[in-house]
Amino acid sequence: MNAPDYAAMLEVAIAEARQGLAEGGIPIGAALFHRDGRLLGRGRNRRVQESDPSVHGETDAFRKAGRQRSYRDTIMVTTLAPCWYCSGLVRQFGIGTVVMGESVNFQGGADWLREHGIDVVDLDDGTCIRMLGDWIAAHPEVWNEDIGED
Ligand SMILES: [Zn+2]
Repeated sequence: MNAPDYAAMLEVAIAEARQGLAEGGIPIGAALFHRDGRLLGRGRNRRVQESDPSVHGETDAFRKAGRQRSYRDTIMVTTLAPCWYCSGLVRQFGIGTVVMGESVNFQGGADWLREHGIDVVDLDDGTCIRMLGDWIAAHPEVWNEDIGED
């Protein structure tokens, strides 16, 4: 099997983030793929849109994917390093690989996931860094709410 095309997978997450931005939400998107390239589910942060702090990009994509027999061969692709809540989800369900667009605006649980044997890939993508960085600069209070900072 060829190596998965992480950059192409990230494009799906970026499209979700852009849709969230267009809806007035926090521009963070995610997608769950199988290693064979199949898209299982995609989603975005909808804290603002749904007034629901539990809808992060990763949890949304995870729920949209429905039940999976095993997560070992799945890849969680997200525009931003997963927070503690989503890092917990990755470990709880044994998702084998996490691909993140960036960890500049937020580091989350990336190191913790690596320490526990999850394959973590940081694409250090300029589009992701700028899109969320610009948004945080314009909406610092909503951002602090999202990451649980007072
Ligand atoms: Zn999260």
